[in-house]
Amino acid sequence: MIEFESAGYSYGGQALFSQVNLELAPGSFHFLTGPSGVGKSTFLKLCYGELHPTEGRTTLFGQDLSTLNRDELAHTRQSIGVVHQDCQFLDHLPIEENIGLPIAISSKDALGEKANLQELIAWVGLTERAHALPPQLSGGERQRAALARAVIMSPDVILADEPTGNVDWEMSQKLLRLLVELNRMGKTIMIATHDLALIRAAKTHVQARVLRIANGQIQSAGADL
Ligand code: ADP
Repeated sequence: MIEFESAGYSYGGQALFSQVNLELAPGSFHFLTGPSGVGKSTFLKLCYGELHPTEGRTTLFGQDLSTLNRDELAHTRQSIGVVHQDCQFLDHLPIEENIGLPIAISSKDALGEKANLQELIAWVGLTERAHALPPQLSGGERQRAALARAVIMSPDVILADEPTGNVDWEMSQKLLRLLVELNRMGKTIMIATHDLALIRAAKTHVQARVLRIANGQIQSAGADL
């Protein structure tokens, strides 16, 4: 679905990582770990085509990113749901409208998708909070709303950047369960996190591959987590 071929990225100085050869296979579940500042968000941005690799190439759904024009990239991105670290809500719109926003701005079958909106809001446990504004929500509620917005267009791939960064342990388990549930429905999942306890907890629910960014490389982490 998403493929890296000898890919690397640098913001101008030393490369954060290079010579990455990796494929996110359909239905796979990956964690991406490493300390803050090591390049996890950057890696996710490469996965959804927000950034182009500065070496090698990335392929999204069989298409070389460098060959896609703006419209083609926008279209390809509809198959990728992103849970941003800071959620990125429009604060003047109720959370329900924020979650439904991707429908409003897409050319997909809006009616069919909209029918799913209430169901999706219930799935993340926000029915009672649907009319609240984003600043009125707790950290956990915001993260669940961000997850709902990421999946509303039924993407094949879901990328989550530190989805449990600002929530307590119980809520992080709840978010993890939602992501595992999505994976069981066939979605490909990648979660960037520095929280090794979360990864350990996930291993009882799902067969996940753990990638670690270290020393400019992305390596499979062993059993030493
Ligand atoms: P992580 O997600 O692991 O915390 P990031 O991918 O956010 O790491 O950042 C990796 C490094 O790249 C950090 O040192 C960060 O300061 C730097 N960085 C991130 N974004 C930019 C940018 N737009 N321009 C220059 N440097 C950046």
